[in-house]
Amino acid sequence: MAKKRDYYEVLGIPKDAPADEIKRAYKKMAMKYHPDKNPGDKQAENQFKEAAEAYEILSDQQKRAQYDRFGHDAPGMQGGQGFSSFEDIFSHFGDIFGDFGFGGAGGGRGRAGSRGKQGPPRGNDLQVRLPLSLKEIAFGTTKKIKLKRFRHCEKCAGKGGTGVKTCGTCGGMGQVRHISQSLFGQMVNVSTCPDCAGSGESISNRCTHCTGEGRIRQEDTIEVKIPAGVSEGNYIKLRGEADLGQRGGAAGDLIVLIAEKKDEFFVRNGTDLDCSISVPVTKLVLGGSVRIPTLESEVQIKIAAFSQPGRKYRIKDQGIPELDGNRRGDLFVKIEALIPESLSSREKELYEELARIQSGTEAAREEGFLNKIKALFS
Ligand SMILES: [Zn+2]
Ligand SMILES: [Zn+2]
Repeated sequence: MAKKRDYYEVLGIPKDAPADEIKRAYKKMAMKYHPDKNPGDKQAENQFKEAAEAYEILSDQQKRAQYDRFGHDAPGMQGGQGFSSFEDIFSHFGDIFGDFGFGGAGGGRGRAGSRGKQGPPRGNDLQVRLPLSLKEIAFGTTKKIKLKRFRHCEKCAGKGGTGVKTCGTCGGMGQVRHISQSLFGQMVNVSTCPDCAGSGESISNRCTHCTGEGRIRQEDTIEVKIPAGVSEGNYIKLRGEADLGQRGGAAGDLIVLIAEKKDEFFVRNGTDLDCSISVPVTKLVLGGSVRIPTLESEVQIKIAAFSQPGRKYRIKDQGIPELDGNRRGDLFVKIEALIPESLSSREKELYEELARIQSGTEAAREEGFLNKIKALFS
């Protein structure tokens, strides 16, 4: 094995270089020996790896101190093994390339390299909004969702046609490279091959049904199970239920986004529900029972005599269940006074009689109130 070069020498920096100088030096080396700029150049590849190894050690304060003391023989020096692949390097220092707007070259290169040739691209993810009533939220439900999505073309069995051969444009790689000049020198951009859409194959007899895509846009209805207790903004991911990729590309995921429909009677407050109910004044004064609608059916509650408007009653376990929990929230009922808007003649008689009886006590109360005020200012 060839003798290892000094890490400072590799990056071309002095022994006392500060951290930002080390980073700058490594960027420079990495750009210069980047595999996308030196395809097939074994020496550049080695220098690219060597620089990454040096940077890994010198950018870490502890490892750098160890190296400064013991050199390449430092105990436990991980960098001794270096990096086995480009992918390794990109996953470690990908952000350095990101700073430069290198496009897909940094990360993309690593991924493509590991798979050899790029397969047909995956289809798009799709998102649908699913409005649910409080009742559906409280008890869980199964909903049918209608959506337009790309699925398998039956006519060509998803192949896009007959006479399939290796794409001449990309040589079967599924991607093409564009070389351009920029501030940082020569730039290489990798993109999906426009002729084969990344499949690496061309078709002499394109399927007329799907124009060679191997997929057809169609309207489907799918069922989705909603658990009890979901909230606005929750989502359910249905893997592989969205657009199929072209010519055998994997299908994207369908995101079902939960929305809450406004309820006419209940207001949701976490797992609790709030509502208000108007009770006739006579019942508030005399007490009695009141029927309260719930999500399931209804319950009866007792109103105490002399109940004041605004009083709240709590009905246990009539709220929304916790998602994945056993506990269920409560229903809070606020009492409001129901003042009649019209009276029958008999009712009017009774109210007037009541008013006459009350006028005595009313006058005495007013008297007492006024005297109290007068006392305050005397
Ligand atoms: Zn077809
Ligand atoms: Zn191609």
